[in-house]
Amino acid sequence: MTEEVAPGVHRMEIPLPRTALRTLNAYLVRGTARNLLVDTGLNMPESRDALYAGLAELGALEGGLDIFLTHMHADHSGLAAELAARPETTVYAGAEDGAAVIRLAAEGPAFWRGTLDGMARHGCPESLLHTVATTHPGMIAGPVGDIAVSFVNEGDVLRYGAAALRMLLVPGHTPGHAALLDEERGILLSGDFVLADASTTTPYRPNIPDSLGVFFRSLDSVRDRDIRLVLPGHGRPFGNARARMDALRAGRVRKLEDTLRLLGNREATAAEAAPQLHRSRSGGGWESYMPAQQWFAIQDTLAFLERLEAEGRVVRAEKDGLIRFRAV
Ligand SMILES: [Zn+2]
Repeated sequence: MTEEVAPGVHRMEIPLPRTALRTLNAYLVRGTARNLLVDTGLNMPESRDALYAGLAELGALEGGLDIFLTHMHADHSGLAAELAARPETTVYAGAEDGAAVIRLAAEGPAFWRGTLDGMARHGCPESLLHTVATTHPGMIAGPVGDIAVSFVNEGDVLRYGAAALRMLLVPGHTPGHAALLDEERGILLSGDFVLADASTTTPYRPNIPDSLGVFFRSLDSVRDRDIRLVLPGHGRPFGNARARMDALRAGRVRKLEDTLRLLGNREATAAEAAPQLHRSRSGGGWESYMPAQQWFAIQDTLAFLERLEAEGRVVRAEKDGLIRFRAV
């Protein structure tokens, strides 16, 4: 099932088994000699079958097919290596996430070792780390093999048919997240930079401090552009991009204050702070969360703590291999 969401731009809904997001949007932008596929789905049969069925329905398996990856996460890049093995296919991505895709495809789940070790220092229980590392599709269903990636820089333009797609660097969700803007028509292929339901997260990556602050700066850089339609990586396409970005920021700022208030005058790791923060938001108990939800919630809490730290409102102290935060 494919849907033409703008003239010459088709949305394919790709299943993501065993994930909270459930589906990914892959988009096909029609060109004259070649077409461009934006994002791919997981390296799992359910994603693969749906992607190839969509491409076949659109007649895009014959002729030139290039690929643009908005970012390195497995639900977006999982099938890139096998698609890249087709003759004369070019895979494009921003330099930082493109390099990460190459490493992820070469190393497999070992790529995530630094992230898992880092989250252990933020208090993530060993059992949770083990469960996530061995079962979560984001960790185990990435691209596999040798893959060449052509790096695209901020401002570069990719042309497919009527569409001139300008690459915008919008880090935060990942360190090198990229989006494509059709300036002529005001269409933003946003990946996970902004989503319809404001659930965009800023997951932890080692040595990339304050990813939430980085995300805020990306919002600032895109907010005043003329965007009439957002084609997100998950969920329904939507208009009114500026209002959505403002709401997204306001929600994050509110949660920053919640985080500081709930931290109170105790010292806590991100993993210790997360259950309290999330119980107060959702009503349901922490124990009812699936392991993957706990994993992302702890990383999200960490992103808030690091933003508060960057604002000079909390400080961290490391003791016995654990990093704890307290209000100043
Ligand atoms: Zn993502």
